[in-house]
Amino acid sequence: MTSKAEFLTRVERGDLCSGCGGCALASEGAIEMGLSAPGFLRPVQRAAIPEETDRRIAAICPGLGQTLDRQATHDDVLWGPYEEMRTGWASAPELRHAASSGGALSAVLGWLIESGKVEAAVHVAADSDRPTANRVTVSRDAAEIKAAAGSRYAPSAPLAALGSLIARGGRYAFVGKPCDIVALRALARQDARIDACFPVMLSFFCAGVPSLAGADAVLAALGTTPDQVSGFRYRGNGWPGEATATLRDGTARSMSYHDSWGKILSGHVQRRCKICPDGTGKEADLVCADAWQSDARGYPLFTEQEGVSLVVARTPLGRDLMAGAEAAGALTTEGFDVTTLDRMQPGQSGRRRAVLARLAGLRLAGRPIPRYRGLRLAEMARSNTVKGNLRNMLGMFKRVVGTSRRRRKF
Ligand SMILES: Cc1cc2nc3c(=O)[nH]c(=O)nc-3n(C[C@H](O)[C@H](O)[C@H](O)COP(=O)(O)OP(=O)(O)OC[C@H]3O[C@@H](n4cnc5c(N)ncnc54)[C@H](O)[C@@H]3O)c2cc1C
Ligand code: SF4
Ligand code: SF4
Repeated sequence: MTSKAEFLTRVERGDLCSGCGGCALASEGAIEMGLSAPGFLRPVQRAAIPEETDRRIAAICPGLGQTLDRQATHDDVLWGPYEEMRTGWASAPELRHAASSGGALSAVLGWLIESGKVEAAVHVAADSDRPTANRVTVSRDAAEIKAAAGSRYAPSAPLAALGSLIARGGRYAFVGKPCDIVALRALARQDARIDACFPVMLSFFCAGVPSLAGADAVLAALGTTPDQVSGFRYRGNGWPGEATATLRDGTARSMSYHDSWGKILSGHVQRRCKICPDGTGKEADLVCADAWQSDARGYPLFTEQEGVSLVVARTPLGRDLMAGAEAAGALTTEGFDVTTLDRMQPGQSGRRRAVLARLAGLRLAGRPIPRYRGLRLAEMARSNTVKGNLRNMLGMFKRVVGTSRRRRKF
């Protein structure tokens, strides 16, 4: 029997995998990503891994840690380093409508290809074999970019698909979850071909990835089953747009974003997301998010309207991309007051404040925890109340101990 890699043993003991696929890319065929219960993409080790490779993977695995070491014009304790923050949307109305929020991300991708800065975009679209699931796709023009626009609240392991692109060479824009970018940046420190192949790295704010069991629960609430479904959108076609299943008989069933994400999918998110110190793409060049408007009490409003993305340039390159796409007429932007972001994204700010306490809860339960450096978690925890920190620590402890007891009973 193949002995399990040390890094993987630690990741599995803590249930720390984010499902980025970085280990599959770095393992030269010894690891592939597979679907594991309740529907997450997880590494499956097929062959022995030399100690040196094991160490190299441990250094890039976001499940085991993240080190943020970046200077920028602004360094906000909550939102991280950035050059510029604006709101924006795709100038093409049909792209703005089709996309997740304002289509800013797709507009920048389209402009990058049209201007010849990259030859294609590597991103994620619906899997035609299982429409609630994802597949990695390489889009070469604006029509393909538009077809893949929209958030997909399901597992994706985009790094696992990059091997052949890197071997062939070329210049691509890469879109991934913040943890995917963490792993890709870390891999680029080990392999110079990565920066050459992916000169642009884009991301989005990320509250977490739900399992495919979450998508099945949405289908059940819509009164259907996976085998009856020929297409599935988590949102888009409006802002926020509805979760919509197209059935094989040609009919469609929909559910609001508030009900699909808020009442179902958010309850199926993996553990690593609950201790994520960086759901806002601190290592990407450019990051987009929902520029939600809020009500008088500060809660985000999910009433349908024309989409608006928050556009965060985290690097000088990201700032140039925002300006270049706008100058070419692909993107429209407006000024943004960063002090309103806490109200706009309460989930992100609440989690940042809770991460240190949750890590303490995991430790208390005897589990390994990721090594986070440069992410200002102590400052964030100090801005939380003592009661809030205790609640998060004990909540995580009880959840972990409860899960192990339930597992032992079976
Ligand atoms: C799992 C998840 C959690 C999110 N959590 C938040 C949040 O907490 N707060 C917030 O403001 N926004 C969140 N978003 C992002 C938000 O839904 C929009 O993607 C963002 O506002 C950008 O919108 P856009 O219209 O500019 O992007 P679009 O123009 O619609 O482009 C979206 C791009 O993201 C890619 N993509 C979609 N899903 C995935 C995926 N699973 N993995 C990798 N790439 C993908 C698509 O291929 C496309 O290129 C989340 C998105 C996802 C997928
Ligand atoms: S987080 Fe990424 S690199 Fe780490 S084990 Fe999971 S898939 Fe592999
Ligand atoms: S919440 Fe964090 S760990 Fe989870 S998928 Fe998003 S970026 Fe990755």
